[in-house]
Amino acid sequence: MKSWIDIKTDSDFSLDNIPFGIGLIPGSGKCICTRIGDTIVDLAGMASLGYFDHLGFKISDFEKPVMNDFIAKGKKTACRVRTIIQETFTTDFCSGTDISLLKQKALHNASDIPMLMPLQVGDYTDFYSSIEHATNVGIMFRDPANALLPNWRHIPVGYHGRASSIVVSGTEIHRPKGQIKPAHADAPVFSQTMQLDFELETAFVIGKENPLGDNISTAEAEDYIFGMVLFNDLSARDIQSWEYVPLGPFLSKNFASVISPWIVVMDAIEPFRCKGPEQQPEVLPYLQFEGDHNFDINLEVALKPEKGKEASVCKSNFKYMYWNMSQQLAHHTINGCNMRIGDLCGSGTISGSDAGSFGSMLEITWKGTKPFTMPDGSERKFINDNDTVIMRGFCEKEGLRVGFGDAVVKILPAK
Ligand code: MN
Repeated sequence: MKSWIDIKTDSDFSLDNIPFGIGLIPGSGKCICTRIGDTIVDLAGMASLGYFDHLGFKISDFEKPVMNDFIAKGKKTACRVRTIIQETFTTDFCSGTDISLLKQKALHNASDIPMLMPLQVGDYTDFYSSIEHATNVGIMFRDPANALLPNWRHIPVGYHGRASSIVVSGTEIHRPKGQIKPAHADAPVFSQTMQLDFELETAFVIGKENPLGDNISTAEAEDYIFGMVLFNDLSARDIQSWEYVPLGPFLSKNFASVISPWIVVMDAIEPFRCKGPEQQPEVLPYLQFEGDHNFDINLEVALKPEKGKEASVCKSNFKYMYWNMSQQLAHHTINGCNMRIGDLCGSGTISGSDAGSFGSMLEITWKGTKPFTMPDGSERKFINDNDTVIMRGFCEKEGLRVGFGDAVVKILPAK
């Protein structure tokens, strides 16, 4: 699809993408938007010109502080809205379009529009579904001979995280403090974390609710997934290793997680569906599935010091995930747990098999034993104060490109 809006070939925001987010539009406030190339399209502005009238939308349906109500209208409705946008901005279809009115009412430079937290996240769950990551952490934290716990290949392991501290890209986060037990000390100390880490993840957004008591099968699961974002699940490893037995991570994880501002819908990544890793031993019937449920999404993490060039520290791919999203959702609800619109489910850190594809500093520097050298010659074992962590993700094949935009967070010194 060619657009009459300029789209660079390496843009994440091709006409095939059309993600949804919340922008702060001068004069109108918070609105549901999409992005094409470097242009933000304000859907309330399009609605004011009547583009969505036949779908029953009013302008006020797009003047929203979060996407939850829009998502609740269903994936089919979102699909129709995307189709209208694609047709309006496609060169071949734009003959009936009043471009000057659209430009005046709905188009903005991306650099002029702050992107806001797109969701009211009610609940957030984080999985642990990369076998490479779980193995690496098991080797470092427990026992190299039994790196994977006995349940790992049978259960998509997860835990309930905290929704209140999920923030949008661009938010600055202070280094957290807490209890740390130095390796050879008898008692813990109170300190700022010395091992602040990122976790390279994606998260899926729940787009349909199941009643309490009902489960969602693997066959139905994708109907319940509205779309995906990049997800940086910030972690304090020294706080984590002291606190996590027996109930799992607590303060080491709940101080902040960062999402990319654009929700990329599942239709947009459909062309990048692919096979996942072989699962051995065979999983229980409720976790079995038909077809392919992994997606080929290139992922990258860069670290940027306050002054100086960014360095790419990791290149991974979502397709490495052992447990897929349909299995995660089937498992999450098999006991009757109800999912709600806007809930987020994190994939867990996405590591590949080689060292260049590890999705956390913990793994990249092997718990600080192999420091990473930055372009300015400085070393990183974990994230330093005033470093910015940039996550990127995109799908690409045969001239088709669909990206997620960036999930960016700068780490400020402890308060
Ligand atoms: Mn995580």
